[in-house]
Amino acid sequence: MAIEKLDPASFRPIVGIDLGTTNSAVAYIHEGRPHVIPSETGERLLPSVVLLDAEGQVVVGQDARDGLVAMPDRAIAAVKRLMGTSDTIKLGSQTFLPEEISALILKELRQRLVTIYGEQMVEAVITVPAYFNDAQRRATKQAGELAGFVVERIINEPTAAALAYGLDHSGDHKHVLVYDLGGGTFDVSVVTLEEGVLEVKASNGNRRLGGEDFDWRLVDWMAGQVYETSGVDPREDLRARAILKELAERAKWTLSDEPEATIESPLLMVHDDHPVILQTKIHRDQFVSMIQPWLDETFTLVMDVLQQAELGPDAIDEVLLVGGSTRIPRVHEMIAQYFGRPARSEVDPELVVALGAAVQAGIKSGALSNSGIVATDVAPFSMGIATARPFGYGWRPGYFAPIIKRNTAVPCTQTQIFTTLSDGQDTIEVEVYQGEDELVANNYNLGSFLLNGIPSAPAGTENIEVTFRYNLNGILEATARIISTKHAKSIVVQDGLERHSASALEQSRARLEALWDNMLETQPVQTSLDDEFADVFEVDDETLTEKDFALELADQAEVTMKDLEALMQETTDKAERKRLISCLEKIKGALTAEDPNTLQDAIDEALDLLFDLES
Ligand code: AMP
Repeated sequence: MAIEKLDPASFRPIVGIDLGTTNSAVAYIHEGRPHVIPSETGERLLPSVVLLDAEGQVVVGQDARDGLVAMPDRAIAAVKRLMGTSDTIKLGSQTFLPEEISALILKELRQRLVTIYGEQMVEAVITVPAYFNDAQRRATKQAGELAGFVVERIINEPTAAALAYGLDHSGDHKHVLVYDLGGGTFDVSVVTLEEGVLEVKASNGNRRLGGEDFDWRLVDWMAGQVYETSGVDPREDLRARAILKELAERAKWTLSDEPEATIESPLLMVHDDHPVILQTKIHRDQFVSMIQPWLDETFTLVMDVLQQAELGPDAIDEVLLVGGSTRIPRVHEMIAQYFGRPARSEVDPELVVALGAAVQAGIKSGALSNSGIVATDVAPFSMGIATARPFGYGWRPGYFAPIIKRNTAVPCTQTQIFTTLSDGQDTIEVEVYQGEDELVANNYNLGSFLLNGIPSAPAGTENIEVTFRYNLNGILEATARIISTKHAKSIVVQDGLERHSASALEQSRARLEALWDNMLETQPVQTSLDDEFADVFEVDDETLTEKDFALELADQAEVTMKDLEALMQETTDKAERKRLISCLEKIKGALTAEDPNTLQDAIDEALDLLFDLES
């Protein structure tokens, strides 16, 4: 279907972003087509690597990637694998959450938009693997917000890929299989395209399978070669390990084009005053046999997803390849063998997701409203609550009762009725889980809440209606309602960062802003409080590390004091006010006492109190 050419300036500023494990990219719709926006130097992919140099400056992209070898303790790659966890990442003297590192990558992409949109607020559609769970999706959304975007929607990567393809095939009726093998994740989805309506029928994947695994397998092989000749395991040396990783990835790339790759490092490390070298060759067949078990695993998942979609391989009209690792020729061979036809790869597999995200953005903004395309999605996991099952004369708890089943089309709302287990039971703890196991212990806990006020009655008399609403951003709202009294309680599922609510987010944002300004201006930007605090610690004569620490604490203290004061305005409870005042005084006292440790303790105590009172 032809697409009318429209002036992008007449639409709201909205872009599509592929926040990848290895590389990221940003695209927008211009004259009815998606385009990747390059950097000033013309690079379309941004390596998803962040480095904090010795002067406390943030470096993102290729330079950070180059720094992985020289400064492995100051750089982080593949942070996407940590999204949704509460793992902290140490870069030099500073610690970050995974979403903060991702926010720095997104901020770098935001810089690319300045020539098109200036400094105005830009909305973003950000992609995630279909198999990302709720916490991982939220962490991605937060990363976008921390970077200063308004996150319009989180969409699944295979959906995005199909959207990029669907733009030119909106009149067709087709079953499309999207095989997405990237740096850190594998995703496979069956998508149907019918008169412009694109529907994800089923999705499957492995969040820990990708090109990074192939690199590390090669690193092990190379380390074995070094050990044989020198008796040293180079993986134990941080720098040598980083060099091996770099060599492994390059050899892997070469093997996608050539039958053999030469691997050489004249000085991998120094051991007992002697240089340790690496000089070897690897043939493509050797490499393929190393990675074949992972490739076989991807095909097991392909078969599963076809079964879920109730389709055979011959019912698939097109196979779309997504992700850098699909450049490996063995992947093409296996696809051709299994489906009896070659895969399509006319769109660059590393850009197709960003381009598709831009198509979704264009549908939203109106820039592609004439394309005739509509995308729907499915819930990647089952979601439900913990229940008990009859056991002997009693009940055994810990069983999973799914309310929204995996692969249900979203947005969706589903309701189920539950009842009390004991006579006179007046409360129910609603524990919300995501997963496929019949025991909740093996699923992922999303949160819980207490529903009280159930009228006293014999067991099984009072009914509780539990409703789950799941939206297109993968955000779940769970509500429990006592049918007889209509009393209800809900939660929107919370994740790690949101537990500390607004104050934690604000602190994070302020810290990233300060780091970013530092990078742009090469001079730290100090607020008046920063200045005051810098004096307190006499940081002028101190090392930069201590100065950074002092400034960071100053930021935290400022934001926390503002939060405490705001809550004091709101509360009418005398005891609460007293606790808030006490926390405020402790922070002020620590500032005057010139003691960073006491200040850190005071801030922590205040955050705990804020969390208690806000929840
Ligand atoms: P993505 O997550 O889609 O950006 O894919 C990144 C992964 O693709 C990394 O593991 C890269 O090493 C890998 N990759 C990129 N180009 C090639 C290539 N020519 N051959 C094999 N793997 C590649």
